[in-house]
Amino acid sequence: MRNSVIHDAFIEAVQTAKSVFITAHVGPDGDTLGSMLAFKHAFEKACPHIHGVHCVIAGKMPDVYRFLPGIRDVKNIETDPEILDYYDLAISVDCGSADRFGPAERVFSAAGVSVNIDHHISNKQFGKININVPTAAASGEVVADLLTELKIPLDANIATCLYTALVTDTGGFKYSNATAKAFELAAKLVTAGADPEYIYKELYEKRPRAQALMQAEALSKTRFNEDYTLGWTLVDRAMLKKHGALEEYIDGLVESIRQMDTVVIAAVFKETPDGNTKISLRSDSHAIDVAAVMEPFDGGGHKMAAGCTMLMPLREAEATLIPILKDKIRQKISV
Ligand code: 5GP
Ligand code: MN
Repeated sequence: MRNSVIHDAFIEAVQTAKSVFITAHVGPDGDTLGSMLAFKHAFEKACPHIHGVHCVIAGKMPDVYRFLPGIRDVKNIETDPEILDYYDLAISVDCGSADRFGPAERVFSAAGVSVNIDHHISNKQFGKININVPTAAASGEVVADLLTELKIPLDANIATCLYTALVTDTGGFKYSNATAKAFELAAKLVTAGADPEYIYKELYEKRPRAQALMQAEALSKTRFNEDYTLGWTLVDRAMLKKHGALEEYIDGLVESIRQMDTVVIAAVFKETPDGNTKISLRSDSHAIDVAAVMEPFDGGGHKMAAGCTMLMPLREAEATLIPILKDKIRQKISV
């Protein structure tokens, strides 16, 4: 729902800024990168008063998004000397809480105006201006609406970025967030120059062999509760190393577990480089809110897709979380 006071404050911030910082969470995905780059193209094209738009993330950039226009200009907060200490305007996209920025948090908070643009139900409202639309299929949908309000027309670059945001967050227009509004936006983006076949091939038909083989091993080691309604698997550093797999190659594994007919909650436990555990959770229905399960662990996300990082080793994280997930399913079944 449009809140005119908040949106007017955002529009004024864009119209008066000379320098803009755009950031997002570590381990960015298609919605994250598509949303930030769409803003970058839009501001560079239509806002001559803005002298610099810096897109900045912490950590490694997944290779799969290298086709996105402008991706080579995304800066790394740890290594890029051009990143300033102060920006007039800082925008975060697709990020539910400021602690997921990594070191970019410092720059975000120091900006003249900070704006939090998102669609996560668990969003912590950490900006000076907060535009969070949980009903939006992707943050890219929120960005598209804001570009309309800013009267910045779509072009092929913006459309390619926003289409990638939409197609990745809807699982290829398959999930419940593939709403009529999402399809209407997709139609506009294709009209403006997004090429669905090209984007699909870049995202899904160039899957690294190491990813397929690592996921096959992890999937074959899936463990279940007694009635197979909960399925989970563990990916440790040794398994990644054995296949020569990158961190990002885990994407999609949790969906493969959720797709099994009996499974209502799927979980993947990944050992992080520093020995902690990154959790990915998926549920198969709105009746099971996995974002709520992640709250006590400083995580979040959406009802049917959520995550967190637990500051403990893989096995300990498994021993902590699995009983909670079993309980969650029991509660659901007993209702
Ligand atoms: P994934 O499992 O694909 O990493 O994440 C699924 C969803 O949960 C995404 O919407 C993502 O933003 C959210 N999410 C994943 N990890 C975290 C986390 O550590 N904190 C919060 N707040 N959200 C997370
Ligand atoms: Mn998103």
